[in-house]
Amino acid sequence: MENNFDVIIIGGSYAGLSAGMSLGRSLRKVLVIDSGKPCNMQTPHSHNFLTHDGKAPKEISSLAKEQVLQYKTVGFQEGFVTEIVKQSENFEVQTESGELFNAKKLILASGVKDMMPDIPGFAECWGISVI
Ligand SMILES: Cc1cc2nc3c(=O)[nH]c(=O)nc-3n(C[C@H](O)[C@H](O)[C@H](O)COP(=O)(O)OP(=O)(O)OC[C@H]3O[C@@H](n4cnc5c(N)ncnc54)[C@H](O)[C@@H]3O)c2cc1C
Repeated sequence: MENNFDVIIIGGSYAGLSAGMSLGRSLRKVLVIDSGKPCNMQTPHSHNFLTHDGKAPKEISSLAKEQVLQYKTVGFQEGFVTEIVKQSENFEVQTESGELFNAKKLILASGVKDMMPDIPGFAECWGISVI
């Protein structure tokens, strides 16, 4: 895979893919790096998103990824970013498995981490019967 990009997007869920589509359509060379663990991964159905009501979150993000990757300017890399080093012109981005990529700009779309209270069963029920 090519290693130099205009923009690297860290996180390839809804926010990252959305940014990827806008930039890709603007003919920017983009790489989306994603570790595949969105915050809603446990929830069975998504709601309040017109045209997608009741769909599984993964169904929505898979369709989004398919549509974004139709733009030849956008690439996708599975992986977890562990290090970013600012160099004079670029950012050097390293993944857990040691791959290195460079970009002029970064977008951090890595989401938020929900902190679960220490209550037995809470985490297992999150997004299912605990809202
Ligand atoms: C239980 C639950 C149910 C929800 N239900 C609904 C609903 O019904 N309707 C609705 O509209 N919204 C719902 N939401 C909210 C919705 O899921 C979030 O608004 C949305 O997921 C935010 O998207 P995001 O791209 O910012 O982050 P996320 O979807 O969390 O994605 C972040 C991505 O970044 C990746 N990442 C993180 N760190 C790195 C790294 N260092 N390197 C590479 N990749 C990385 C993760 O693996 C992940 O894929 C729900 C949320 C939760 C928690």
